[in-house]
Amino acid sequence: MHIIDTINNAPNTLLSLEILPPLKGKKITDLFSHLDKLVEFNPSWINVTYHRSETMFRKNESGNFEKVEIRKRPGTVGICAAIKNYYKIEAVPHLICGGFSKRETEDALIDLHFLGIDNVLVLRGDPPKNESQFEANKNGHNYAIQLVNQIQALNKGIYLDTDIINGSNTNFCMGIAGYPEKHIESPNLDEDVYFTKQKVEAGASYIMTQMFFDNAKYINYVEKCRQIGINVPIIPGLKPLTNKNQLHTLPKIFNIEIPYALSHELHKSKTDKEFETIGTEWLIQQSKELKKLGVPVLHYYTLGKPEVIKNVIKNIF
Ligand code: FAD
Repeated sequence: MHIIDTINNAPNTLLSLEILPPLKGKKITDLFSHLDKLVEFNPSWINVTYHRSETMFRKNESGNFEKVEIRKRPGTVGICAAIKNYYKIEAVPHLICGGFSKRETEDALIDLHFLGIDNVLVLRGDPPKNESQFEANKNGHNYAIQLVNQIQALNKGIYLDTDIINGSNTNFCMGIAGYPEKHIESPNLDEDVYFTKQKVEAGASYIMTQMFFDNAKYINYVEKCRQIGINVPIIPGLKPLTNKNQLHTLPKIFNIEIPYALSHELHKSKTDKEFETIGTEWLIQQSKELKKLGVPVLHYYTLGKPEVIKNVIKNIF
């Protein structure tokens, strides 16, 4: 079922989850034991992130360093198919522009279509870790909107190969990313929202937000979107703070603020456990407030912390 239909048919706030594929070399059963703790709460769907390869330097046999391409977390599509098959829950793969030519994207979409996966979260992707700027692949897309356009064309049976006449059409429902505190590269929130509107007009059915820790930022973002005519559901993305490093790393990586009331409390914690308890309690309160506001879905980034997320959602659903 399309995510947008699931949302539109729901009388109450829904629950959805996001997971990362396991590190290469780990078993899929490790992932299932993570999800087993959460599926009892009936998530409406599960998102699976996509991770492009990174360039690293490794010592070779002769003792010299050589540049190698490493993909640490492959398996997004396989995991989505496994989730659908094993749990009978809708799975949403993230699809990025980075590292893909348009033809590779088309082939990936055909694979998804044949597997019966017809929901995707459409993203540009970040620059690789050691590069400061996003660079599209040769014959790839520079912005997520171009990927939305490609998928929209395939939904009409239009393939890159113009020799294909009356091509079989796909049926993808597309979500896109939104940033309540603006995307890190954007000069201001208004411009970022302007480009988000373009993605919606190109065919995206809903927006999923970057994590935020201050509900006022989400409320302000939704208002801004509505003012310029973005009327699709805007799903809040939520994450618990579980270790001290995140106080410094998350604002830097994701261009988000951690409110003083939260950071001040967290600074008082003496152990990791105390830190996690405060982070969890904050997320419970955030979720309760958002649910009261009538948000369509609460989407949790589980990121290897199923027990924490379980603790949160059992207080909400
Ligand atoms: P875009 O919409 O292309 O926007 C990128 C920047 O360009 C923004 O600053 C925007 O304002 C600007 N812009 C957009 N269109 C134009 C235009 N036409 N002209 C000029 N400027 C423009 N990354 C992964 O690698 N894998 C994942 O699985 C993943 N999952 C994510 C899930 C969510 C919910 C979110 C919020 C992010 C996720 N990301 C993921 C990160 C995402 O790929 C990065 O934030 C990326 O830098 C931007 O992606 P986007 O789709 O928002 O890009």
